[in-house]
Amino acid sequence: MIRNLELAFIKLHILYHANIEEIFGVGMMEELERHGYTIGPGTLYPILAKMEKGRLLSCEARTVNRKQRKYYHITVAGGSVLNEMKHKIMELYKEIIVKQ
Ligand SMILES: [Zn+2]
Repeated sequence: MIRNLELAFIKLHILYHANIEEIFGVGMMEELERHGYTIGPGTLYPILAKMEKGRLLSCEARTVNRKQRKYYHITVAGGSVLNEMKHKIMELYKEIIVKQ
């Protein structure tokens, strides 16, 4: 159950970072680790794929140092979801942290 809730936070992190700059799997894993989420490629890559399929992210494969790497960008729809969620995060924050 905790993992389930964490996955929602992880997806929000992904949207947030993809909105700032293009992201890729390994970089995102490091960023999430920094925030206290341990997530392996076996979990993260399917999430990215699902978010792409849901048209929240778009994917572009590029070859860097002879390695194929998938870069993700936020889509217009992804940006709207992020904005909508910001309001909900603020609402939740006010209720359970600020308590007003
Ligand atoms: Zn972050």
